[in-house]
Amino acid sequence: MYHGETVFSKIIDGTIPSRKVYEDDHVLAFHDIEPKADVHVLIIPKKKYVSFNDFTQEASDTEISSFYRTIQKIAEDLGIADSGYRLITNHGANAGQEVFHFHVHMIVRRHKD
Ligand code: AMP
Repeated sequence: MYHGETVFSKIIDGTIPSRKVYEDDHVLAFHDIEPKADVHVLIIPKKKYVSFNDFTQEASDTEISSFYRTIQKIAEDLGIADSGYRLITNHGANAGQEVFHFHVHMIVRRHKD
């Protein structure tokens, strides 16, 4: 159950600012406020899902497939689709999920040597 508002629902409604990299009717992507890598983008469905469990159990097949296809399109837009990136979802307390609005981290840590 989604509890009221989260920092990400406030980013969606514009109450909290973000550095957007992509937006359509269903998906929003923005830079993480505390980037842990050279590229650290968060990708979220605009509809309120608490977690990976909630998204995969409650979203339609169309929502799920289009969400992941949009992630791939964002990677293309960022120019990292071929060079590579990591996708991470922290699900629940034991994974250290901090924001209870389902999201995917897109991360590129470039080699410094
Ligand atoms: P997680 O641990 O998977 O829930 O990750 C939550 C992420 O949200 C962290 O990497 C935070 O740095 C990021 N975050 C928290 N608040 C904001 C914000 N206002 N704008 C952008 N990213 C945020």
